[in-house]
Amino acid sequence: MPDQPPEPPSILDPDDWEAFRKEAHRLLDGCVTHLAQARQHPWRAPDQGLKALLAGGVPEAGTTDSDLVDALLGTMLPHGTGNIHPRFFGWVHGTGLAAGLLAEITAATMNSNCGGRNHGAIHVEETVLEWCRTIFDFPPGSSGILTTGTSQATLLALLAARHRLGGERVKTEGIGVLPPLRVYGAEGVHACIGKALAAMGHGSRSLCPVPVQAETGAMDPEALEATIAADRDRGLMPLAVVATAGSVNTGSFDDINALADLCERQGIWLHVDGAFGAWIRLGAPPYANLADGIGRADSLAFDFHKWMYVQYDCGAVIMRDGDNHRATFEARPDYLAGQTEGLGASGTWYCDYGLDLSRGFRALKVWTAITSHGLAPFRQAITDNCRRAAQMGETVARSACLELAAPVVSNICVFQPIAERFPGLDLNEAVRQTAIALQLSGDAVFSTTVIGGRSVLRAAIVNHRTTGQDVERAVAAAEREMLRLADRGS
Ligand SMILES: *Cc1c(COP(=O)(O)O)cnc(C)c1O
Repeated sequence: MPDQPPEPPSILDPDDWEAFRKEAHRLLDGCVTHLAQARQHPWRAPDQGLKALLAGGVPEAGTTDSDLVDALLGTMLPHGTGNIHPRFFGWVHGTGLAAGLLAEITAATMNSNCGGRNHGAIHVEETVLEWCRTIFDFPPGSSGILTTGTSQATLLALLAARHRLGGERVKTEGIGVLPPLRVYGAEGVHACIGKALAAMGHGSRSLCPVPVQAETGAMDPEALEATIAADRDRGLMPLAVVATAGSVNTGSFDDINALADLCERQGIWLHVDGAFGAWIRLGAPPYANLADGIGRADSLAFDFHKWMYVQYDCGAVIMRDGDNHRATFEARPDYLAGQTEGLGASGTWYCDYGLDLSRGFRALKVWTAITSHGLAPFRQAITDNCRRAAQMGETVARSACLELAAPVVSNICVFQPIAERFPGLDLNEAVRQTAIALQLSGDAVFSTTVIGGRSVLRAAIVNHRTTGQDVERAVAAAEREMLRLADRGS
């Protein structure tokens, strides 16, 4: 073949790959250093530098790789959510893993589209989901898909539950062919359930809060049964019972076996919201037993980005009846027809199992995390997080001015100022001010919630970097801040 003249480079590729390589290495070095020094990087409020970087409107001309890497390292990197820091306990924010850095670089290079077709990423997702089915005791024939998070996973699960009730007719005619539906969840069930029901056209009020037992915070199965019976009498149809495995406020667990028994008797779909708490299965007893029965669910939603420490975003849903799961979402027009060989062949077209057609390669960061460490250190980290929460509870119980707002069951500790110690102080306001002051000072990130009508400081420990000392330091800082507010107020 005669020599072809060299092709000109694409205008969207680097002019000089060697120069790009140098800058990419510089960026990677900076990222590794940042991660290795996570303890020095608490949350920092977005500053003038960041605002200046983002100002000026949409640029017509680009910047050099060198300036870009300077901006990424100097201005972007310091402005994370703060959840890589060991004293970040707010909301339920996972920490991320060094292995995730390697996964994200590889995934960005491959740029796989995981809607379907026959390529490596699809097989990685199948493997990761198979691992999950094993961990959570799901039977052969069950199915799954990775999602952005538990919110999306919940929507997919409830859509599949509705498909079991209404079949193809609901798909084509809409929800008018069904009687009004009801979903049951413990008081304090996560907001994503109501949001899913609103999006599905049933209205968030079709979510029925069921009272919990005072001692455990778990849904009261007798109250549930009575509510369902009364609703059926009124012509309402149960769509699903949501068992919470790890409640967002206190880390309490519903008795999944009791709810599974009831759902079996009544022929109702059992969905488990295990966003973070499902992973307690990997912890040591007695923690692991909190989620006993999880494999009996019709659907289970959970996150990797919370208590598996995997980088955002990544959640999943697994479903017992894979055929029903597929029938809920399958819609393959001509331009997506499969083949027996080539790119169109593959076991799983994930576009048939969810709402997205184009999907990123989320599975790689999960596979990389578990392959690089094995499960054993995750078991240890999850157990350790529970022990740190218990330790926080003990530290609070010893404090002269703080008290627990609920018992520590798993990895969440909620506490409040002791009212008698702070006469005249607006306690709810003091709690909010304390959370803000500790966030601003970089001492610790607690979030706040309301328990029994009172604002409380809340720590959800899904942080593999948190040590016993971090726990002591964070509680001491909260105590100090509370006393300072009282001093200032008097
Ligand atoms: C975080 C959380 C959710 C929502 O999950 P996302 O991944 O944030 O969408 C649902 N339920 C519980 C109990 C949670 O903690």
